[in-house]
Amino acid sequence: MKRKQPAFAGHPLDRADPVRGDPARLAELAHAEARLLRLEGLIPRLGEDRRLQWDRLGDAPPGAETVFLGLLDGEALFAAVPQEGDPDPAYTRRETWAALGHLPPEELALYGGARSLLDWHARHRFCPQCASPTVLAKGGWQRDCTGCGAQQFPRTDPVTIMLVEHRGNLLLGRKAGFPEGSYSALAGFIEPGETIEEAVAREVFEEAGVLVRDVSYIASQPWPFPSQLMIACHAHADDDKVTIDKTELEDARWFTREEVAEALNKGPESTSFRAPFAIAVANHMLRWWLEKDDE
Ligand SMILES: [Zn+2]
Repeated sequence: MKRKQPAFAGHPLDRADPVRGDPARLAELAHAEARLLRLEGLIPRLGEDRRLQWDRLGDAPPGAETVFLGLLDGEALFAAVPQEGDPDPAYTRRETWAALGHLPPEELALYGGARSLLDWHARHRFCPQCASPTVLAKGGWQRDCTGCGAQQFPRTDPVTIMLVEHRGNLLLGRKAGFPEGSYSALAGFIEPGETIEEAVAREVFEEAGVLVRDVSYIASQPWPFPSQLMIACHAHADDDKVTIDKTELEDARWFTREEVAEALNKGPESTSFRAPFAIAVANHMLRWWLEKDDE
């Protein structure tokens, strides 16, 4: 059975790496009539058709850095770096959040990739090594330091997010800031020196006091707020005793298959719990979990 991809997957552009490293080819593509993604800061400005809109590269704000997003059917697409980045979560930006719900999957992926890249540029204008100003290079897929010459590359931060299963039930948790009744998969950043499997086991034990084994991979999702790679995993627990770290979680408990199905199918009307947003990888994971035993 072919499953749907998580939201923000399926980027439609040819990333065209040879073009990035070819200044002459880039200059040729970056003519005034080339397409520039319409944004206000990092917020997408949709048309009446609720699709992404494009302006002319010649109308980019004077002095703004522009990045080469890639090629769509041979045509180069660009976006301008805003004055300021935005490290806040998506749901704190109502306009962005509303726009995301309208975009078709390929445009969601295109916007997500552009947002992560633009936000990185806006927040990396100085060298972490010598504090001199940095300048955009390779069409926007690198920044070079004007002082020491160090090169910086757009970052992606790996995060594990996991479904922990014990005798057909799933462990889900809620943080204090979650909407009322919402539960989701436990998650945490991978630390230096850790494998994916080790990060899954550490996070589940830290947050819920549950020991897990047999960690397996489900899917991944580029999450552009600001630039995480969500690595979705499944793991087994031998014991259902939960010891919650209250500094991390408000609650964590086991849910039955029926409760998970109700949360996904009934949305806000669900009496079991509120499932994660449709664009969150956790929502995709819960659907995967319900379907996997039906195959
Ligand atoms: Zn430097």
